[in-house]
Amino acid sequence: MHELAITQSMLDLVLEQAGEIGAKEVGRINLVIGEMCGVVDECVQFYFNFLSKGTIAEGAALSFTMVPTAVRCRGCNKSFELKEFDWTCPYCRGNSLEIIAGKELFVESIEVE
Ligand SMILES: [Zn+2]
Repeated sequence: MHELAITQSMLDLVLEQAGEIGAKEVGRINLVIGEMCGVVDECVQFYFNFLSKGTIAEGAALSFTMVPTAVRCRGCNKSFELKEFDWTCPYCRGNSLEIIAGKELFVESIEVE
C-alpha cells in the first residue's frame, strides 16, 4: 500500500497548489521519483485515477521522471550510479557507500488550465 499513501499525498499537494493559483483543471503532473523508492509508476497511475475522481485533477496525465540511484564511495570519494544494487565501489572495491541520489520523490511541476 506504499503507492496508495504516496499518491494520496501527491494528489493533496497538487490540489492545494492548483487551488492557490485558481486553476480550473489540472492537465499534467510531472513527478520525479528516485529508483530507490521502489515506487511502481503503473500503481501510482492506477491509484491516481481512483483518488482523483471528482477533483479538478481528474483525468490529468502523469509524467514520471525516474532518478537512478547514485552513491559516493567513502573510501575513494568517487561518485557513480549503483547498478543492480551491487554495493561495491568499482574503483577501490570498498563497500562504504553513501546514497547521494535515488531517494527523491516529489512533484516537480503541474500544468493547469
Ligand atoms: Zn571507492
